[in-house]
Amino acid sequence: MAVRKITEYPENVLAEVGEPVTKFDKDLEDLCADMFETMYDAEGVGLAAPQIGLSLRLFVMDCEGIKLIAANPEIVHTEGEQSSQEGCLSVGKVPAVLKRPMKARLKAQDLKGEWFEREAEGYPARAFMHETDHCDGRLFIDHLPKLRREMVIKKFKKEKNWK
Ligand SMILES: [Zn+2]
Repeated sequence: MAVRKITEYPENVLAEVGEPVTKFDKDLEDLCADMFETMYDAEGVGLAAPQIGLSLRLFVMDCEGIKLIAANPEIVHTEGEQSSQEGCLSVGKVPAVLKRPMKARLKAQDLKGEWFEREAEGYPARAFMHETDHCDGRLFIDHLPKLRREMVIKKFKKEKNWK
C-alpha cells in the first residue's frame, strides 16, 4: 500500500469524465487500498480516482460509519435539501456552503463487480454526491455561484503559496 499524490485544481484530470471500471481484479483491490490510505493520510472522508490522477469512475469513502468502495457510481434517487459546508482534498479543503439534497441513494459495483445500492442521509449523502461528481469530472465548486467559486479558488491559491 502507498499514499498517492493528490491531484489539485485546476489539473485536467479533475475535469474529465472517468472511464468505466471494467476489470474487477487484484489490481483494482490494490488501487482501492492505496486510495483508502491516501484518503486517511489526508484526513478526508472520501476520495475519487481522478484525485490521484486516474480518469476512472471509482471512489472510496469512510464517513459516519459508511465505509465503501464504489465502482461506476450513479446517484439514482435524491430527496430533500441540506445546506452546509463542503470542501475537497483537491481544492485544499477550503470550505464553502453548498446546497445539496438531504438524502441520496447510490448505485455502484463493489470489488467483485456486484451491483449494490446504499442510502444515506446528511453528511454521507453529501459524500456520495461529491465523489460521484468527481467520477463525472465535476468539482463541488462547479455548483457554486461564480463569485463564491472565485473566492474559494483565490483562498486555495493563497494557501498554496504559503506552503
Ligand atoms: Zn473532492
